[in-house]
Amino acid sequence: MNALPQRDTIKALTTHYIDGAFVASHGREVVDVIRPTDAQVIARVTLGDEEDTRRAIAAAKRAFATYGRSTKEERAKILRRLHQAASARIDELTAAMVEEYGGVVQFARPIIESGVNAFLASEKALQDLQLTRSWGKTTVSLEPVGVAGLITAWNANALFICLKLASAVAAGCTVVIKPSELSSLQTAVLIEALHEANLPKGLLNVVTGLGNVVGAELVRNPDVAKISFTGSVAVGEKIMRDGAETMKRVTLELGGKSPTILLDDAALDQAIPSALVMAFLNSGQACAAGTRLLVPKSQLDAVKRGIRDAMRVFPVGDPADPKTAIGPMVSQKQYERVESYIRKGIEEGAEVLVGGEGHPEGLEAGYYVKPTVFVNVKNDMAIAREEIFGPVLCVIAYDTEEEAIRIANDSKYGLHAAVIGTDIQRARRVASQIRAGRVVINGMTDDAQAPWGGFKYSGVGREYGRYGIEAFLETRAILEA
Ligand code: NAD
Repeated sequence: MNALPQRDTIKALTTHYIDGAFVASHGREVVDVIRPTDAQVIARVTLGDEEDTRRAIAAAKRAFATYGRSTKEERAKILRRLHQAASARIDELTAAMVEEYGGVVQFARPIIESGVNAFLASEKALQDLQLTRSWGKTTVSLEPVGVAGLITAWNANALFICLKLASAVAAGCTVVIKPSELSSLQTAVLIEALHEANLPKGLLNVVTGLGNVVGAELVRNPDVAKISFTGSVAVGEKIMRDGAETMKRVTLELGGKSPTILLDDAALDQAIPSALVMAFLNSGQACAAGTRLLVPKSQLDAVKRGIRDAMRVFPVGDPADPKTAIGPMVSQKQYERVESYIRKGIEEGAEVLVGGEGHPEGLEAGYYVKPTVFVNVKNDMAIAREEIFGPVLCVIAYDTEEEAIRIANDSKYGLHAAVIGTDIQRARRVASQIRAGRVVINGMTDDAQAPWGGFKYSGVGREYGRYGIEAFLETRAILEA
């Protein structure tokens, strides 16, 4: 049993956002929001049901009749208002993210800022996108696909909502959002903020609830034309299967097991901290986390020493402390999952260089794990093949550049990858052979107009910028005889 804090500190979230208003939930089921740093209950959420979802879809459908015919200028104006409204609450959004899932503040703030900026990035992409083309007696136009269901994961829920909403709004779609049920507090802050943008009624609707209830209704409902989903492969597969019955368009942003290739000319003093930043991104709970570090055999001993030294700048602890690099796992379930993989790695014969099983000393109350680096890992071990979603790094040795590329590509996933080396031409040549949707060279970096999405099991479709908007468009040709 969790000890409860003072009753007046437990927030109660009982509404959904439908047709421009906060309305009482029809669904009655209540779940606790548990703070991962100390396993205390901090909020209670009333979950929506199929009826709440259908009301939201009906509102979005009514709004689409008008908004679906909006001009570029009208959409741009709305995107600017959304940006302004979200910008006003960056501090609160960051605080909610830190408290609710233990995201470290040094990661949470830039993630929130990037969500807020997505509205302006989409506005720019929309301005640059040619929505109509004509030649002879033919006119081709890009039309909004219809009502879109946006389903998000908990690990950067506010970012995913902003990103998907920005693309959908730019395309002329109306939306029903099903945020992660583990992200109710940050969703509440975000939707209160976006309410201030004074949107046309029904353009934005949000129903908090379970995936197999609210999410499943969005997937099966014939009035929803498109699902944009961020989450696990298992749920992505189900959405694709179930969505086929109503011919849903789908964008699926799924998991990863991203490689970081350390080339033999890399400057290790910079390369190692950079590789660890990518491995421990969002406490390892990131789809893009670089969890397989491929190291030339000739440098293995130097890399091991470098990792031991560099771990000192990755302290584990209170996520609200700006010095903390690694916070708790989101839930008891996720804690147990990560621990089970650490055990599995040891059973499979990998060697623990840093970390291991159990809580870090002094952090027994929350869902903290020890950041763990395994060496002597073979790419066919479960710890190198399966997404762990925690701060567990596998170091895999290679002999030649060709072998490094082969190992990097020997994965069911293909979301993200990194190449680190001094000879930039060589690094580019290696990057161009990686089967992943995004490859970064010499450190983690971002570009709000560059596409995001996966090859293979990492998903279907792309988000961000022009690519994100196109995912919410259909092409229509009108031909005159
Ligand atoms: P999840 O698949 O369990 O849940 C994601 C969302 O889907 C939640 O809102 C959940 O309620 C909903 N859902 C569950 N069952 C559903 C159903 N039957 N129908 C419709 N919706 C349903 O994933 P998670 O644990 O929240 O997130 C972690 C996963 O997300 C990891 O695999 C991670 O790699 C992935 N992820 C991918 C990206 C990316 O951009 N590619 C980004 C972040 C996270």
